[in-house]
Amino acid sequence: MKLENTTGTLYLCATPIGNLEDMTFRAVKILREVNFIAAEDTRHTRKLLTHFDIHTPLIRYDEFSKTQSGEKILNLLRGGKNIACVSDAGLPAISDPGADLVKLAVESNIKVCPIPGANAALSALICSALDTIKFTFVGFLPKTAKNRRELLTELSTRPETLIFYESPHHLKKTLTELLDALGNRNAVLARELTKVHEEFLRGKISELAENLSEPIGEFVIVVEGKKNSDEVQTPAENFIDVYKNLISQGIDKKSAIREVAKKFNLNRREIYTAVINL
Ligand code: SAM
Repeated sequence: MKLENTTGTLYLCATPIGNLEDMTFRAVKILREVNFIAAEDTRHTRKLLTHFDIHTPLIRYDEFSKTQSGEKILNLLRGGKNIACVSDAGLPAISDPGADLVKLAVESNIKVCPIPGANAALSALICSALDTIKFTFVGFLPKTAKNRRELLTELSTRPETLIFYESPHHLKKTLTELLDALGNRNAVLARELTKVHEEFLRGKISELAENLSEPIGEFVIVVEGKKNSDEVQTPAENFIDVYKNLISQGIDKKSAIREVAKKFNLNRREIYTAVINL
């Protein structure tokens, strides 16, 4: 029997990323049984709940309301209420709100419980035919050009498969940035996962960027990790292109040389000599 003063449980509940049949029996049961559902977009979640005949009250919990809502949810949990956190699609806390709520709950000794299910990154990875043993989930790249560049430079040396999220209207630009930073590697675009027009586009990053057709839809980019053979020789033309690209983005010569040297593991003087006449 539940004691009056027992704290509640925070359930992190997966929802479908397209196909409603991916909703699990357990997710439906938990969403019916909890006292409240914390949802990223209450209108969006309401449609899902209506489909599954769930009538649990909703609390808005998104990036904008998370400080205020977080406190409210925590108080309800402390008071013994059970709460399920859902995002618009897939797993909450994966490129979606939820992670901060988990931290708050754990800091307050509140039990957290996963209700697993659909996730775009892992669904894309398992169909990619790229290495699934070692991989890095990058999610969305940072917004500022500088932070993006720094992260991509760091990722360029990693041997494991890389998984990115991106919104449809930035896809082409991001593929071009990946090409510049990582080289022309094998990659997979996993488009509209679990939906009617699901497809996997496979090829070199340059081919994928060239052959993109509208409408784009939702997709995950999975990129092969750096191969040992990449380290053997980097053609001079390649690092000069990267240097030119950095200069065209307004980076000063010294910083561009430093960045290229780091990326290609070359001596700065070598690069300086090669670019002096540009
Ligand atoms: N929490 C979600 C999860 O567990 O996968 C991710 C949410 S994140 C805000 C949205 C991004 O996930 C999209 O921009 C896209 O990159 C990817 N995504 C979500 N649903 C997808 C789908 N059905 N097909 C392909 N990519 C999808």
